Amino acid sequence: MTLLEVRDLEVTYPGGAAAVRGVDLTLAAGRKLGIAGESGCGKSTLALALLRLLPAGTRVSGEVLLNGEDVLTMRWGQVRAVRWAGASIVFQGAMHSLNPVHRVGDQITEPVLLHRGATAAAARRRAGELLERVGLPASRAAAYPHELSGGQRQRVMIAMALACDPRLIVADEPTTALDVMIQAQILRLIERLVADQDVGLIMISHDLAVLADTCDRLTVMYAGRVVEEGPARQVYEDARHPYARALSAAFPRIGDPASRFAPRGLPGDPPDPAAPPAGCAFHPRCPVALDVCATRDQPLRDAGPDRRAACVHVGAAVPGPAPAAEDARSTS
Ligand code: ADP
Ligand code: MG
Repeated sequence: MTLLEVRDLEVTYPGGAAAVRGVDLTLAAGRKLGIAGESGCGKSTLALALLRLLPAGTRVSGEVLLNGEDVLTMRWGQVRAVRWAGASIVFQGAMHSLNPVHRVGDQITEPVLLHRGATAAAARRRAGELLERVGLPASRAAAYPHELSGGQRQRVMIAMALACDPRLIVADEPTTALDVMIQAQILRLIERLVADQDVGLIMISHDLAVLADTCDRLTVMYAGRVVEEGPARQVYEDARHPYARALSAAFPRIGDPASRFAPRGLPGDPPDPAAPPAGCAFHPRCPVALDVCATRDQPLRDAGPDRRAACVHVGAAVPGPAPAAEDARSTS
């Protein structure tokens, strides 16, 4: 059954940054979708749009169907119900998301108390249970955020996300700030929780290796668009879009510390979303760009069974005059 379907999502911030441009996604219940892309490619904007958490004045169009209901047009009361019981987000940087002056147990049970009307004693029991489920002793409920390590805080964040038994968890860079060992532990934890509870997972990262290891399918975003999608291992090991290939080469293995924050071997930066280049947004950085790439953007096309990529070199030839081989700007 389809848990989440995103259709033609467009998000433009008040300043004019077109952060998400025509994105389609599908996630079945109990499946794990990875969304990859460098910093600034629109991944967090997409995550926020799923739960209508974008700042006021942001223009959003398209559809975000959660169990068939469009989150973008539903009444606020319904949106709140979705946020409590339908979908949860685990954000990057647990230290900033936890309130420093409240014990973590109270922060975990806050939604339970608010939403379920649980008694204080029941909420305390529930907090202990949730902490144990994420591999922490129930007694840690009494701790303040600064008394926990980074990995422990991220576990608390995950416990908070699980508090109302969501059907969808969106984890935005859940392990980026953690060291390699802890990163692997948190990834295994997320995998186990998702498998045990048949929750759908969207995991966001700039690290393609992490996503390939955890997710069933991968979507690679560049400058607000999907440039490639397909089965996770295939996209990681044999990407069809030059951007996805570069990203994959930049993360040769899981948790490579050197590439944790910035991909190597990928010169330049993603474009300013307020003024993206004409044609394919990746063409100024693309090692195999043709002249046509500077003027014409490419739609996603079939790139093998169950795979799609948006590149002139993939699938059917572009309409119009066929680009001759010598049009290639730099292949060396
Ligand atoms: P990612 O998560 O992939 O790093 P983001 O979704 O955070 O990307 O950002 C996409 C683009 O939108 C970036 O260029 C960023 O500067 C811009 N952006 C993000 N948040 C805002 C905001 N609140 N107002 C204006 N522009 C924003
Ligand atoms: Mg982000």
